[in-house]
Amino acid sequence: MCGIIGYIGPQQAAPILVEGLRRLEYRGYDSAGLALVNGDIHLRRAVGKLRNLDQLLTTQPVLGELGIGHTRWATHGRPTEENAHPHVVGKVAVVHNGILENHLELKHELREKGRKFASETDTEVFSHLIDEELQRGAALPEAVRLAALRVRGAYAIAVVHAGEPDKVVVAKQQSPLILGLGEGENFVASDIPAVISHTRNVVYLEDGDLAIVTRQGHQIVRVQTGEAVTRPEAHIAWSAVAAEKGGYKHFMLKEIHEQSRAIADTMRGRASLEQGDVFFEELRFDKASLQDLHRIVIVACGTSWHAGLVGKHYIEQATRIAVEV
Ligand code: GLU
Repeated sequence: MCGIIGYIGPQQAAPILVEGLRRLEYRGYDSAGLALVNGDIHLRRAVGKLRNLDQLLTTQPVLGELGIGHTRWATHGRPTEENAHPHVVGKVAVVHNGILENHLELKHELREKGRKFASETDTEVFSHLIDEELQRGAALPEAVRLAALRVRGAYAIAVVHAGEPDKVVVAKQQSPLILGLGEGENFVASDIPAVISHTRNVVYLEDGDLAIVTRQGHQIVRVQTGEAVTRPEAHIAWSAVAAEKGGYKHFMLKEIHEQSRAIADTMRGRASLEQGDVFFEELRFDKASLQDLHRIVIVACGTSWHAGLVGKHYIEQATRIAVEV
């Protein structure tokens, strides 16, 4: 789970984006970045804690009243600056939360057409697909919609375009995304704490929704059909602290309820039920060396030690190889 924030309005976006990301830190992350639209796309990305991004912004400040920000929890590709979001292709910058299950097929297809990838992420596929649709003449919202129709998996995305400083386009499928509605300014975010200091009026997007957000308002269409829909506005009465707990009485309860999604997020893109197979891009073992293993050691600490004990149980049962945690 990572954090997404977007802003369009009369204020400078960078401090609002960083502050929003700070409110989403509880979701966990390994790198952070933002893209501002100001004539061109201006990108700032840093590995590690948000203060690294903050520091970068002090030495290389960036201006603009439209922007998107992201804290990444790497699923595909190492936590490096090149893999940090936003991912820019052509005039488009994209932040993404989730996992694109068919990214390898799409990457192959796009490479065949001569497209080059600057990162190891699944996300960059989305940026290329949008750029491809733009080059075919689609307007930004339609390009995002057509690209969304081609990917399979989980995503919340926010997209900005250097030549369209009047909108941010977002879409969602199985990853959370809300709109925060202000006065002459609007926000998009993964969760309410990121916007609550600016507005308490929000719209919860549904799976399969795409929203075009401008300073003055928003418009929602269905990805499948392009048909317009309206979603109810909700007023958040919680305090900022309660908002972080997402309506649960305490964090432990919230985490308990998040378990099924956390497990699904971990498995998605790595385990294929149809093919009965698992796939780990970063592990380059060949079959022969795996068959030659006589002992497995899992090194872990704290909670991961407990996870390791569960792993020992399954690995020993499946492989009959001794596992030590
Ligand atoms: N799958 C994407 C990546 O690895 C997004 C991860 C996230 O949700 O932070 O970059």
